Amino acid sequence: MHITGKEIEYLYVCKRKLWLYRHGLRLELEFQNVQIGMHIQEATFKREEKDIPIGEIGVIDWAAFKHGVIHETKKGKTPGKGDVAQVRYYMWWLNNNGIRVDECKIHYPKMRQTKSVMWDDEANKAAEKDLAETRQILDQDKPPSIHKYPYCKSCAYQELCYA
Ligand code: SF4
Repeated sequence: MHITGKEIEYLYVCKRKLWLYRHGLRLELEFQNVQIGMHIQEATFKREEKDIPIGEIGVIDWAAFKHGVIHETKKGKTPGKGDVAQVRYYMWWLNNNGIRVDECKIHYPKMRQTKSVMWDDEANKAAEKDLAETRQILDQDKPPSIHKYPYCKSCAYQELCYA
């Protein structure tokens, strides 16, 4: 089972959302948010090499592999644990496939901030733990129960959860 970077991010956002997304429920609002994210990335790295697919797990916004650095751009105003988990997973995948990566810089253009995530033994363990937990959730026959989050009201799945 290929787990994507987005799914690792959802592990930290909402386990129910992770399950619904994986099982084919990709609602329109979700698509719009991705489009907005792509637009921000386009505007941020106009002159750099962009959109580098890594296997089947996702796409890196920009990379300087000779320096061991990859880059990710986020549209949000608040850095979340899911952002870190997603890029940690990308670094895990790259390092396990013979491409040395020591660092990921996460860019938040709306806040004019950059967060650095380093690759080390601790990050490796965390990435493997996230992967195991994600697989365990996706193997379940039913979605995890609803958990009330402040951001449920802007979630694409709110009509499914709060009908
Ligand atoms: S509405 Fe809330 S509980 Fe339902 S999937 Fe979205 S974040 Fe999760």
